[in-house]
Amino acid sequence: MTEKKGEFVPSQKYMGMQVIDSKGSSVGSVKDVGVNVVERKINLIVATRAGSDIQIPWDDIQSVVDVVLLRKEIELPKMPTVTQAPVPPPPPPPTSCRNCGTPVIATARFCPKCGTKLK
Ligand SMILES: [Zn+2]
Repeated sequence: MTEKKGEFVPSQKYMGMQVIDSKGSSVGSVKDVGVNVVERKINLIVATRAGSDIQIPWDDIQSVVDVVLLRKEIELPKMPTVTQAPVPPPPPPPTSCRNCGTPVIATARFCPKCGTKLK
């Protein structure tokens, strides 16, 4: 199946296509096709892996087959480094002294109130 030259392709055909730059690294996926009416140009709007959208001029597109292949390397905006706070271990289940009923932490060996050995 060969595509005729000069064929008009509905923009929906590109939606969700992977965008690969000249270095072969994945830029993201096609989100939309932007039309600049004043400059009569078309941009590819790409949702990048970094989470932001970038626009790629149609001139920078090498070919479109199953993926969008670009002629140039795309410098992705730096991914915001999400520093995940270490998850604190869950607190031990509360327990209570079997002698006096005082709530004590599960790791306690003796009741702080009556001194009963808990384990
Ligand atoms: Zn106690």
